[in-house]
Amino acid sequence: MRQVAIYGKGGIGKSTTTQNTVAALAEAGKKIMVVGCDPKADSTRLLLNGLCQKTVLDTLRDEGDDIDLEDILKTGFKSTRCVESGGPEPGVGCAGRGIITSINMLESLGAYTDELDYVFYDVLGDVVCGGFAMPIREGKAEEIYIVASGELMALYAANNISKGIQKYASSGKVRLGGIICNSRKVDNELPLLQAFAEELGSQLIHFVPRDNLVQRAEINKKTVIDFDPAANQANEYRALAKAIDENKMFVIPKPMTQDRLEELMMQHGFLDAIA
Ligand code: ADP
Ligand code: SF4
Ligand code: MG
Repeated sequence: MRQVAIYGKGGIGKSTTTQNTVAALAEAGKKIMVVGCDPKADSTRLLLNGLCQKTVLDTLRDEGDDIDLEDILKTGFKSTRCVESGGPEPGVGCAGRGIITSINMLESLGAYTDELDYVFYDVLGDVVCGGFAMPIREGKAEEIYIVASGELMALYAANNISKGIQKYASSGKVRLGGIICNSRKVDNELPLLQAFAEELGSQLIHFVPRDNLVQRAEINKKTVIDFDPAANQANEYRALAKAIDENKMFVIPKPMTQDRLEELMMQHGFLDAIA
């Protein structure tokens, strides 16, 4: 069983990319569980065709410890198993601790079965605090992919997340599997992201184009794979899924300084565009 976590800045496209990748893997016959680790609890909506399932933390709060697996695990597109860990009451408690409470609950209820090929964690990653590093710290997520774009803040977050991975990689099994570019149509985005990934000692595993079909599918409460399987964008997600499935490059990342990051942007991003 491969345990994969998707990190990246808020709004960069983690949940969309995760669900479309999972849908492509499921279509190819893989057995997958998705664990949403964002208090927003919107990591499985497209796989469940809009069903807002009750989160693990809400279920625990309302029903106590005596809960059944089917209370917190719903079956979605092509038999994917979907869980939302949820978050603490706003203003109270640590969201990261909530993630671990959920994962422990899933373990004790027997959700991690041997037949699973993958578990995907979709993790909020703006703040690289101890809380949101929980899936890494606890040795759950072993393979990390960071979603980024050519925008400074997205690369800044990706570099910070790499620092978090580096910290725990020396004592554990966690490795960076690659950077996923979810395009924002920034000038020279492809070479910039390739250079960024290379500087980290990693790879750009796939460049996902920006396409309004993603929004159209979203309004219809579906992944693109489900909504329009013949579309180009569906093939992009299939290519990303295949690259992850066949990936052999797992590294301890080498994060860069803020100055170096800005220099890289100047070299590959804007200078060429101005010239
Ligand atoms: P995150 O989980 O990182 O906060 P989301 O996956 O919720 O981000 O994505 C934020 C928004 O961006 C969504 O409304 C989604 O439809 C849109 N989006 C994501 N990826 C793409 C893409 N490749 N093309 C067009 N829109 C996208
Ligand atoms: Fe929030 Fe992170 Fe602090 Fe936990 S450790 S309370 S998730 S900022
Ligand atoms: Mg999300």
